[in-house]
Amino acid sequence: MLTGIIKYSHHLLEKSITEGECVIDATCGNGNDTLFLSKLVGDSGRVYAFDIQEQAINNSKNLLNENGKTNVTFIQDSHANLNKYIAEHGEKEIGAAIFNLGYLPRSDKEIITKGDSSIKAINSILSLLKKDGLIVLVVYHGHEGGAEEKEMILKHVIQLDQKDYSVLQYGFINQKNKPPFILAIQKR
Ligand code: SAH
Repeated sequence: MLTGIIKYSHHLLEKSITEGECVIDATCGNGNDTLFLSKLVGDSGRVYAFDIQEQAINNSKNLLNENGKTNVTFIQDSHANLNKYIAEHGEKEIGAAIFNLGYLPRSDKEIITKGDSSIKAINSILSLLKKDGLIVLVVYHGHEGGAEEKEMILKHVIQLDQKDYSVLQYGFINQKNKPPFILAIQKR
C-alpha cells in the first residue's frame, strides 16, 4: 500500500495526465521519466525534456529512440528558461511536470539542481499549468548542496496559497541516509 517514491511519483502523473497534453520533464537525466511521460501523452501529445548536461540529453534521446518514441522535444538548457521555449513552440497550457532533483546518477556530482533555478522553473510551470494539473518534485537531498535546495523549495511551496494550490509531501520518515521524498503541487 505504501508505494516507494518513484512508483508513487508515476502513480500521481498517471492520475493527472491525459493523452494529447503538453507535459514537462524538467530534469530528464537518464530519460526514465521522459519515457513514462511520452507513453502517457501518446502520439498526439508532446513532452518537453530539459537538462543542462549533454550526457543526460544523449542518454535520454537514446532511450526514447530505442522505444520508438518521437513525441519528445529535447532542450539542453536550464529549466529556469523554460518559459521561452514553451512560448516558442506555441504551447498555451501545461498538463503536468516532473522534477528529479540532485545529480545525474553515475556522473559528475558537482552538477546539481539548485534552489533558485528550480523555484524559477516551478513558478513558470505554475503560471501555465491547467486546472487540476500537477507538478511532481522528487526531492533528493543527501548530496552536498542538497539540504540547501530542499530548504529553499520547502519554504517556497509551503507559502503557496491554499485557495490556489494543494501541496502534498510524501516520504518515509523512518528511513536512514536522507531518503528522497515527494512534493506534489496541484493547481485548483
Ligand atoms: N537524483 C536523481 C536524479 C537526478 S538527475 C536520482 O538519483 O535518480 C538531475 C538532473 O538534473 C541531472 O541530469 C542534471 O544535469 C540536471 N540539472 C541540473 N541543473 C539543471 C537545470 N538548472 N536545468 C535542467 N536540468 C538540470
